[in-house]
Amino acid sequence: MIVENKIVTFEELEATYSKYISVPSDLENIKKAYEFANKKHMGQFRKSGDPYISHALAVALILAQMQTAPTTLMAGLLHDTIEDTDTTKEEIEANFGQEVAFLVEGLTKITRLSDFHKTDFLAEDHRKIFIAMAQDIRVIVIKLADRLHNMRTLQFQPEEKQKRISKETMDVYVPIAHRLGLNTILSEMQDLSLYYLDKEGYQKIEALLNESTKALNSSLNKIKDKITKLLATTKIPFEISSRVKSIYSIYKKMYIKNKKFEDIYDILALRIITQSETNCYEILGYIHSAFLPVPGRFKDYIAMPKPNMYQSLHTTILSGDGHVFEIQIRTKEMDETAEEGVAAHWRYKEGTKYDPKKEQRDIEDNLHWFKYFVNMSDEEAKKTSASDYVNSLQKDIFQANVYVFTPKGKVIDLPKGSTPIDFAYRIHTQIGENLYGAKVNGKLVPISTVLKTGDMVEVETKENACPSSSWLNMCATNFAKSKIKKFLAKQNLDYVKFDQIEKAKQSLKDALKERKLNFSQLEKMIDNKCLNNFKCNNIDELYLKIYSKNVTPQALIDYFKLEPNDASVSRAINSSTNANKNKFKAVSDNAILLSDGSTSMIKLANCCTPIPGDEIVGYITKGNGIKVHRQDCPNIQKESSRQIDVIWNPNLSKNVKYPCDVAVECYDRNNLLVDIMNIATSQGASLIKINAKLRQSNKTTLVTMTLQVTSAEQLSKIFDSLKQLNSVYEVRRCIH
Ligand code: MN
Repeated sequence: MIVENKIVTFEELEATYSKYISVPSDLENIKKAYEFANKKHMGQFRKSGDPYISHALAVALILAQMQTAPTTLMAGLLHDTIEDTDTTKEEIEANFGQEVAFLVEGLTKITRLSDFHKTDFLAEDHRKIFIAMAQDIRVIVIKLADRLHNMRTLQFQPEEKQKRISKETMDVYVPIAHRLGLNTILSEMQDLSLYYLDKEGYQKIEALLNESTKALNSSLNKIKDKITKLLATTKIPFEISSRVKSIYSIYKKMYIKNKKFEDIYDILALRIITQSETNCYEILGYIHSAFLPVPGRFKDYIAMPKPNMYQSLHTTILSGDGHVFEIQIRTKEMDETAEEGVAAHWRYKEGTKYDPKKEQRDIEDNLHWFKYFVNMSDEEAKKTSASDYVNSLQKDIFQANVYVFTPKGKVIDLPKGSTPIDFAYRIHTQIGENLYGAKVNGKLVPISTVLKTGDMVEVETKENACPSSSWLNMCATNFAKSKIKKFLAKQNLDYVKFDQIEKAKQSLKDALKERKLNFSQLEKMIDNKCLNNFKCNNIDELYLKIYSKNVTPQALIDYFKLEPNDASVSRAINSSTNANKNKFKAVSDNAILLSDGSTSMIKLANCCTPIPGDEIVGYITKGNGIKVHRQDCPNIQKESSRQIDVIWNPNLSKNVKYPCDVAVECYDRNNLLVDIMNIATSQGASLIKINAKLRQSNKTTLVTMTLQVTSAEQLSKIFDSLKQLNSVYEVRRCIH
């Protein structure tokens, strides 16, 4: 009978782990964990009526039978304390250390909030445990032991719960046990689940099996004797035993693969355990020489291990008396891996320091899906919905049954319907995003080609290649789908951002136009100081703030102190001259005095743009009053007879600004204009026009600008600063 309820005592547990743990402090800690859990669970009982601690002991016993490390056993004993008693993680950490506390916490279900939907809980719980497992595989090993014992004692639960727990076991825990190669646990879980999910089907097979094994056994024993005699004549070491196929495996063949019971060849199989890989092939040779092998039934899992590390030779032979048997040949190590998978590989050995991080790395190296699983279970997995995460896990990893190869011979397992897109994303997200072409078995194929087991897949990438929405229909894994969606969303976001920036620019342009201000001028003035002022890292951010109305165009205009009524600004904006000249005249009329003190009909010359403090001279024009030039202006040198003495009005207001044309010669470099503009405006001058001309021949730039300054003194300070500027080699005033 499959269902049992065996009470495990601490003494039994102790006897089991004492076979491989002998360090006194370890033994003491395990006992301490038992006593702690026993005290905490005191007064609690299971549905069976047994004290609760019997469950913790049973779980620890399963772990001890797998020869796990002392910390794992402790966590097994304590695994329900946080969830079911008043124990806190801190308490466990204080008593048993951080490692044990992490494991127990990882095994604790999330706190139930009443308004959550039940299936969400389940998915949340699964996600939590898988994310913890991605950090430390022992979490799942303990969980599997926990679940196995719960399955063994399911007879005490109501039928509805028996079915629900069995289904969850099949959906979530069996696949993970399979992937980890924990076959002993897996097989028992499958049989128990089947028993509760389809009791009739289970019992039918059980009856068929009992009946047929009688007939099969006598035939099998004859073969066993023949092989034993045959191998005894060689020097090859061997042990021979038989195994019965599990009820669930038979059920699967009959009901899922639609085979008749009689057509299942490996109901009984012989298992030959030997010493070396070479021995395995030697034994195979002897067997094929003595029995007729069934064609197409030979499988070499030594050369090509299964993704869960399973290795063995399988062959099927005719018994000669009407029966067909499978024979499995493997080494002792292979056999242990076949039974216990990762647990066999990482059995606890005293004297070698147990390093959970190293174990985790080893697993990632040996189980290629595990790294992918860890990738899937990163920080992002905590953000996506729990059911999406669990679905992806089930589809991409648990249901993966297409095995393809990388050019280096690495096996990659993918779900049915996968294409080179899935393959590329499985290797690396970046490779997926830059996927350009694919080769399957050396031939170029479309990236939408569905891959088959055994295909050798090569992908080609290009730096500027990127996913398109059509890819979503050309891939099978949820991982690739979600990465493509994310890429497209980001691209879309970039587009939205671009659009918003354009709109912000337009609204700024409109606002400036209303005030008769110039957009490109203003844009050039935006420097780091300005960006800092508006708490932006770059100009795009500033525009996005303008778009979202967190910064108004007026605020920007105010920042640069641009006044639409200011003559200088509007002059710059319109770059027309008439209106401004009139205003300018009104200013300059009072600035210059003739030697007789009169001020009539005097204008400042546009060619040399004199400013207060310059040495000046008046020039009597023909019918256009007096023009004031700088004394060294070449335009007036010829006709000295027309020159007339003028002076700057000594009572001149210090605040009035005069335009002045300046040229800066520099070697071209990045941000040159910005730096020049910053200096030009730093001393209180206003910049009203700037123009840069790059001379390609020698990579120098001539920057010409019109500044509004109050005096020659102010201008000379600006010149000093400009000359200090990196790559500037000459600063001069212009004469046109
Ligand atoms: Mn439990």
